[in-house]
Amino acid sequence: MSRLVAFAAIQGAYNIVSKVEGKYQQALKAHNASTKVGFPNTAYYLPVIYSLIGHKVETLEDMKKPLAFARGLLPPHVKGAHHLPYLGPLLDAGMAALFAFEIEEALRYLNEPNFYIHSEDPDIENGKIWVGAADDIVLRKRGVEFVDGSAPGFAAIVGAAPTPEIAKMIVEDYQKRSLYIFCAANQNGTTVIEQLLQAGVQVGWNTRIVPFGPDISSAIFALGFANRAAMAFGGVQPGDYKKMLLYNKDRIFAFVNALGDVNAEWAAAAAGCVNWGFPTLADTDIPEILPTGICTYEHVVANVKHEEMVQKSVEIRGLKVTVSQIDIPLAFGPAYEGERVRGADLYCQAGGGKTQCTELVKMAEMNEIEDGKVTVVGPDMPDMKAGSSFPMAVYVQVAGRQMQPDFEPILERQIHHLTNYIQYIMHIGQRDIAWVRISKAAIEKGFSLKHIGVVLHAKFHQDFGKILDKVQVTIYTNKEDVDKITTRARAEYRTRDERVEKMRDEDVETYYSCTLCQSFAPTHVCSVSPERTGLCGAYNWMDCKASFEINPVGPNQPIEKGECIDPKLGQWKGVNEFVAKASRGAITHYNFYSLMHSPMTTCGCCECIAATLPQCNGVMTVNRDYTGETPCGMKFTTLAGVMGGGASSPGFVGHSKYNITQGKFLVGDGGFLRIVWLPKILKEEIKERIIKRATALGVPNFYDMIADETVGMTEEEILPFLKKVNHPALSMPSLIG
Ligand code: SF4
Ligand code: ZN
Repeated sequence: MSRLVAFAAIQGAYNIVSKVEGKYQQALKAHNASTKVGFPNTAYYLPVIYSLIGHKVETLEDMKKPLAFARGLLPPHVKGAHHLPYLGPLLDAGMAALFAFEIEEALRYLNEPNFYIHSEDPDIENGKIWVGAADDIVLRKRGVEFVDGSAPGFAAIVGAAPTPEIAKMIVEDYQKRSLYIFCAANQNGTTVIEQLLQAGVQVGWNTRIVPFGPDISSAIFALGFANRAAMAFGGVQPGDYKKMLLYNKDRIFAFVNALGDVNAEWAAAAAGCVNWGFPTLADTDIPEILPTGICTYEHVVANVKHEEMVQKSVEIRGLKVTVSQIDIPLAFGPAYEGERVRGADLYCQAGGGKTQCTELVKMAEMNEIEDGKVTVVGPDMPDMKAGSSFPMAVYVQVAGRQMQPDFEPILERQIHHLTNYIQYIMHIGQRDIAWVRISKAAIEKGFSLKHIGVVLHAKFHQDFGKILDKVQVTIYTNKEDVDKITTRARAEYRTRDERVEKMRDEDVETYYSCTLCQSFAPTHVCSVSPERTGLCGAYNWMDCKASFEINPVGPNQPIEKGECIDPKLGQWKGVNEFVAKASRGAITHYNFYSLMHSPMTTCGCCECIAATLPQCNGVMTVNRDYTGETPCGMKFTTLAGVMGGGASSPGFVGHSKYNITQGKFLVGDGGFLRIVWLPKILKEEIKERIIKRATALGVPNFYDMIADETVGMTEEEILPFLKKVNHPALSMPSLIG
């Protein structure tokens, strides 16, 4: 922390306390010591003093004690070369200044009873623009908003902006975020309030822009209001200063914007506000107090540009942006999630086997991205031809002080249902096999791809505000861009998958559920273990764990696996109990490692579907991106239609691509070496991992023993090949028992 700020603030506090002591002595000369003093119509006396030390100031005499208390708080002057610690003395100095300010304002009420207008709104015609302390009627009406969240807090603005336009810009931005704007103090005789009036902005409690007073001392009304709200609605007892200050820090999102030169008195007030956890942001070059400690983040930040003042303030105070309105021309909500876009209604689409469609969420640095920026690079809706398929990549960048790379997959997986929430739009799949279908009705309503970004921005803030502060979305529809993102995304997916590579199911006592897909498949419950990633491929055990951390009441719940019922098939008592409950009794039990015996349920987003090939005594599996026929007699889409509704269908099971080479893949049915057929693209995609796993199982040339569509499309066609290469499945116990 800077010695200079400490110096200025402590100096300022001395000046203020001395000045107010002088005014107090004068008042004692002019009035009787028993003269009543106080703010209008309130039961909270001088509220800052009352709330913090429990002392009731009702007469001039009563002011003596808090003034002496302020004097006593003043720390020794800063001198010499020692640099730290300044925070303690600085906070005390600030508090002393604020006590003095409150007494100064009470003296003003005594000496100039008509200085403030006692009203919610100023009386502009008669030049009465300052409303002073809020009475208890205003407190009851407005204070509750601070507690129930309809107003997250307030921006205290002191001084004046360089121009009325800048003042207007800043204040209107705060209004949009539902904050109150408390104004006090002047800068060389000008105030933000006068600037706003000049710019035609309505001020007063009714527009949430409160003109407290023209001097820095009137800033005390803001703190007094906050403390009264805490006493009235937050149950904080007068005199419990610790609880009072903590309550404000944790519950009231307030901060100070200092516009113009920060003099010693302002510095003292800023230091005082740090006690409440309210940081100060200045547009001038004052020494900063960056280290965090009392305030949630930094204490005093200098040189903030006017265009960035609002965003920065909100960020530094840790205020979460709430975007309550989703500004798109189509209806939006969970009600539309299950809605389909069938062939006849289809206008155009991305993905679905015809073109590439990829989704990627990546964490960014705070200053790298702009919150709410949504860009479409390439052709957008009005330009797409009816009946066409276009490539698309949805690239979302998020930043936040609590954000971690571990959370990326969780956010990415939301794109599925959030896009589905848009009426007339259908979304299937995830990662690099996403599929978006846009109906004719959507086009008629004016749908643009941009609206996907608008939705993601708003919902990410709403649902994940705890971890992120900024969301920027770029949607690419040019093939080169889409391919570039896809290559990058695949590398990311691999890294994520490998995070569970070395873990074994036996290593953990807790698995995780995923019920994200229940809106489509009501009885579907994915259980995710280290060696069985979610069948959509988007959620592994680590991801579910992180998701539970972010949202403890969300779709990923821990499952204590409990007593093991069958280690080979992979069945646990705790899992069964959980699944029975989560499927509302539809599914009583299932096995993790088998497709023959009570396999896990499958929903429509699985990456692959495995099926038995009884004549070959083996299994095949087919991935979504392979659109051809398969030896089990059904294409992927047919298979998904038959068993993707959340049922457990013996003989078939949905799984992720990554799962194929995980240690427990179908071990209940003989395991990995049961695989006799894979589509060529899938085989090639996971070639390295196939070879690695096969080598570990003692069959290094297994890769070449797996048939694909070039070998045959029926069991009869591939059986001779399997015999020729002496496929290990042929010598295993009979699959169908
Ligand atoms: Fe969750 Fe399973 Fe749906 Fe993936 S497929 S999102 S793991 S329920
Ligand atoms: Zn699903």
